[in-house]
Amino acid sequence: MDDAPLTCDVLIVGGGPAGLSVASTLPDAVDTIIVHQDEEIGYPIRTSGGCWTDDTARLGIPPEMYNVLNTNEAFADDAHAVIPLKGNMPAILDTPRLYKWLARQSDHKTRRLMLATKFTGARVRGDGRYVCTIRTRDGSKREILARYLVEASGWHLAVLRALGLATARPGRLGVGTEYEYPLGANPPDRGIIFMGAKVPSGYGWAFGTALGTLRIGVGVIQPDTDASPRKLLDAVVADEALLARYGLKLEGEPVVHSGILPSVAFDERMVWGNVVRVGDSANFATPTAGEGIRVCIDLGRELGKQLGRAVKTGRAGPLRAYERRARRQLKRSYKWGFIVNTRIARYGPKEWNASVRRMAKLDTASVTGLLRNDFSRRKIMALALSGGRAWVKSRLGRLTRR
Ligand SMILES: Cc1cc2nc3c(=O)[nH]c(=O)nc-3n(C[C@H](O)[C@H](O)[C@H](O)COP(=O)(O)OP(=O)(O)OC[C@H]3O[C@@H](n4cnc5c(N)ncnc54)[C@H](O)[C@@H]3O)c2cc1C
Repeated sequence: MDDAPLTCDVLIVGGGPAGLSVASTLPDAVDTIIVHQDEEIGYPIRTSGGCWTDDTARLGIPPEMYNVLNTNEAFADDAHAVIPLKGNMPAILDTPRLYKWLARQSDHKTRRLMLATKFTGARVRGDGRYVCTIRTRDGSKREILARYLVEASGWHLAVLRALGLATARPGRLGVGTEYEYPLGANPPDRGIIFMGAKVPSGYGWAFGTALGTLRIGVGVIQPDTDASPRKLLDAVVADEALLARYGLKLEGEPVVHSGILPSVAFDERMVWGNVVRVGDSANFATPTAGEGIRVCIDLGRELGKQLGRAVKTGRAGPLRAYERRARRQLKRSYKWGFIVNTRIARYGPKEWNASVRRMAKLDTASVTGLLRNDFSRRKIMALALSGGRAWVKSRLGRLTRR
């Protein structure tokens, strides 16, 4: 080791929306270190940033950090629908700006943000403290001695794997590639999703952003398909007839973004002694659309509050309270969402044509519920979209019996 160990109450591994939100609500005096392997908060961009106006308002996200989509459409190979959204509208977050804003909320506290620093390992000492190893910007190795460890490294599961609490990375992953073009003549407030033969076991999207650009992307679930999202996206952007049908005009050289998130069933365990997980490492992204940022901010803030109480009292109760809140908020709807996820991952062009036709006929609450993975009993009936009443009824019975 190159220097004396650093010490802290809480070590947060990962400076994405989950880790930064935890830091934002930890009490000011709690000695905190965030290690983040990237050079800068918010970059490289690995997410599309889709959210909803009700959530941006509830989470206090300033309006200049998102772009509202007033026109929303869905395309399958032989079907097209204008999605009937009203009130709670899709909002595309400017994630670098948002994540920097989240980071600023703990700037004044007793916390140190170590960029370009990778967490490489951990072991528990006899007194219950965690001895963690990191590799810093200049390549040197250091130790950090921490009382509490927050796993916020996303799909990497860096902390859980280092401590043997997870044996491998998630076995099923959502993998996406996105190109960002100048907006050109495209309407800034229009969003589309597209499904069918061009995107097996996944879906595509295009929308205007808060930065006056146009993003188009494709995400697939691996290993349900071994297709590369980048190759699929290249085929879409090279197909002029298809782009004309989607109403898109692409100009100039794109900037490329790509990212990975887990696509596995929700697991309600969040806490192992003084180790606690949050965000993608805890499967917080919605199973239906892979939307995780609002959930990471919400439950990340909750974890920061509870962790503050745990540090102060040394008791396990506050972390259990966080675990219960995550379970209450996500367990039921994510079970339903995962059923939908695995079902639509097998859809072919015929099923997508039928789904998009039905989408146009759904009421606003049902379609918003599906897109947001919000499965109240009433909204579950809207699952006719993906299978019909008999199918819904059989699964409703199974789920409510658990
Ligand atoms: C293609 C794609 C599109 C998406 N679209 C949307 C969307 O439209 N809307 C939405 O809400 N969500 C979307 N998501 C999901 C969303 O991005 C995630 O749910 C969210 O980013 C999870 O936040 P997190 O903080 O848990 O993890 P991350 O954002 O993954 O942040 C974890 C950070 O930890 C760092 N890290 C990892 N290992 C280490 C280590 N060993 N040491 C130090 N640092 C480490 C990583 O570099 C990373 O920056 C999308 C995801 C993908 C892949």
